[in-house]
Amino acid sequence: MERITNSPEETFALGQELGRQAAAGQIYCLDGDLGVGKTVFTQGFADGLGIEGPVNSPTFTIVQQYEEGRLPLYHFDVYRIGDVSEMDEIGYEDCFYGEGICLIEWSQLIPEILPEKVIRIRIEKNLERGFDYRRITVEGLPEQGEA
Ligand code: ADP
Ligand code: MG
Repeated sequence: MERITNSPEETFALGQELGRQAAAGQIYCLDGDLGVGKTVFTQGFADGLGIEGPVNSPTFTIVQQYEEGRLPLYHFDVYRIGDVSEMDEIGYEDCFYGEGICLIEWSQLIPEILPEKVIRIRIEKNLERGFDYRRITVEGLPEQGEA
């Protein structure tokens, strides 16, 4: 699936749409340059899951957990990770292989621990099409009706 958005609100809305459909055990890998809209997307996604509180990138902790939605959400931002062993230290396996949903900003930095079956979301700018233009590609979503 590919979507074009032209405002943060539209990216939020796409996140919301996917958050409403999200199922237990899924891992969403979110990649794209700094300032492209990964956190905006995540905020929409969290809203779609029924999480009301503010959602921001977890700066000092790598992962932030939200329990108040339809399913637990583990929001990772691994941008500042030094070594993948830091993921072991925070017990990532309980999140990846649990009953919640993982959403990982900058997943490209931890390829060695990503399971094979993930949902990939890539956000790209194209300045020729305007400052707020984003192309968002989503790969690996289950078909409608499929578990
Ligand atoms: P990231 O988490 O990828 O570093 P953020 O989500 O924190 O990026 O920030 C994205 C910035 O880009 C915000 O300031 C937002 O207002 C702006 N923006 C402009 N156009 C868009 C768009 N189409 N989608 C998402 N964000 C946009
Ligand atoms: Mg971010």
